[in-house]
Amino acid sequence: MARVLAFGAHPDDVEFQCAGTLALLAQRGHEIHIAVMAGGEYGSASLSEYEIRRKRLAENAKSAKIIGARFHYAGGHDGEIQYDSWYRKITYRVLREVDPTIVFTHPPTDYMVDHEEMSRLVRNACFLAPVPNCDSQSAHETTSGVPHLYYWNAMGLVDIFGRPLPLTNVVDISSVMDVKEQMLACHESQREWLRHHHKMDAYIEEMRHNAQAQGQLVGRAAAEGFIQHLGHGYPTNDILAEMLGDLCIRLRE
Ligand SMILES: [Zn+2]
Repeated sequence: MARVLAFGAHPDDVEFQCAGTLALLAQRGHEIHIAVMAGGEYGSASLSEYEIRRKRLAENAKSAKIIGARFHYAGGHDGEIQYDSWYRKITYRVLREVDPTIVFTHPPTDYMVDHEEMSRLVRNACFLAPVPNCDSQSAHETTSGVPHLYYWNAMGLVDIFGRPLPLTNVVDISSVMDVKEQMLACHESQREWLRHHHKMDAYIEEMRHNAQAQGQLVGRAAAEGFIQHLGHGYPTNDILAEMLGDLCIRLRE
């Protein structure tokens, strides 16, 4: 069985972009880990950053529990994620705790700089966490090798220039949309906030809309799109398609 790590910048990013795929992998008996870099400190207009962080991490842990995933908080802060030495080290630590076979994270281009920095941090950690002399003072053992790396789709399904991303895989999540909704609904603080501001349940509606739009790419009711990292040194066999069979539609050969 594989160890699967979905590592997002903020609480709820993982649920929005790949909870359906994680639910399918959990059903197949794989070990699932959900990690978050920052504590969601900017996600409230009334609570202090400490109060909202505590609330949002608890919401995220509750969501992870729905699919039996382990939850990790790396220790970062909203709006501060950057490709520096400290953030690199706390990213290695999560990779080394999990030693994943397959990793999901943000694409290199996305609407928020926290997301783009996160993409670089995770890509870097995948490559360097197996290296003994990398952060050699750390108490954590190195990972056993470079994992398969997949980027989930950008928020809003377009890059910062409004273009669709070059997806390699689309996963049919029609059978687990209810699980994805349950997981996202655990993030009650964000749902309430948006409900108050938009006067509608925009949180769940946007997720449904994105899943349908991605499903339309492959003639399925609901889907999540991914791009496999295929650069030098990373495994290039499509392990996601191997794990999910017919539910994972390859868009490129
Ligand atoms: Zn985010």
